[in-house]
Amino acid sequence: AKQYVGSHYIFYTDMMKDSVKREFKIRNYLHSAIENDEFELWYQPIVELSTLKIVGAEALIRWHQPKLGFLPPDQFISIAEKSGHIHQLGKWVLKQACIQTKKLHQQGFSKQYVAVNVSVKQLENEYFAESVCGILNETECKGELLMIEVTEETSISDSQKVQMNLGKLAKLGIKCSIDDFGTGFSSLAKLHELQMNQLKIDKSFIWDIEKSEKIVLAILSMGKNLQLRVVSEGIETKEQLEFLARAGSDFGQGYYFTKPLPFEAYQVFLSEWQSNKER
Ligand code: C2E
Ligand code: CA
Ligand code: CA
Ligand code: CA
Repeated sequence: AKQYVGSHYIFYTDMMKDSVKREFKIRNYLHSAIENDEFELWYQPIVELSTLKIVGAEALIRWHQPKLGFLPPDQFISIAEKSGHIHQLGKWVLKQACIQTKKLHQQGFSKQYVAVNVSVKQLENEYFAESVCGILNETECKGELLMIEVTEETSISDSQKVQMNLGKLAKLGIKCSIDDFGTGFSSLAKLHELQMNQLKIDKSFIWDIEKSEKIVLAILSMGKNLQLRVVSEGIETKEQLEFLARAGSDFGQGYYFTKPLPFEAYQVFLSEWQSNKER
């Protein structure tokens, strides 16, 4: 028994060591990843449910790390937040999103906005709004083309700086959305106070729509009353789409339309979608 307990213990610490080691490696690799051009933005369309027109896209980061392979954001964003790399990385994301969205406009997709995920850590930085302003100028992209998505967190309510940045972003014409709505801590008062324009119903409610029907309906009617646009994310089936369209969700997003696509593939997807509509 002793030996069993012993080996069990060793096994456990080895696992701990492996995950600590991996986190340490990721943190180190993050350092040079931007310079080495290892990141890419993929795009997932946001569809107006009443017309099935694509109104914009969410930009989602992907990392091709030469030694570790393909890394989804869940494996490095929280590490970047802890290490402080998130500030530099976040600027890269915003700039790339502006550059590529401008390209879409030049190709005639003139009504497309881009939704960019922004960490609360970024919003807590005193100079965040100024740096966004700099990026808009540098890329000659209008603030109206940009929407930022922020996940509800407890810390959001404490921070004066977050509120100040959101106010400045609003002045630049940038819209703001609460992400993963219904899973976090934000109160209705906070939504209003932070001048949100939109809320995104978390995908867990959409996947479980039969059980969560009442919650989804409640969020939709609340959104309407607060004059917020409501997006439903994680739509995977026709049934979910039809339910949400009937229930009055303004916009939707999910694998049912397409998984996130690399920029080139997204451009092709957009053209095909448009020509299908016109037929
Ligand atoms: P999120 O903002 O909630 O993004 C939605 C996630 O759900 C994306 O995962 C997307 O690929 C996935 N998704 C969309 N539709 C469906 C669907 O129908 N079914 C399923 N199963 N999944 C769907 P992804 O790209 O792995 O991103 C994960 C999270 O990483 C994001 O969650 C976001 O919080 C964060 N993230 C992504 N890019 C960035 C970024 O540039 N900056 C920051 N700070 N966070 C980012
Ligand atoms: Ca998001
Ligand atoms: Ca989300
Ligand atoms: Ca999320």
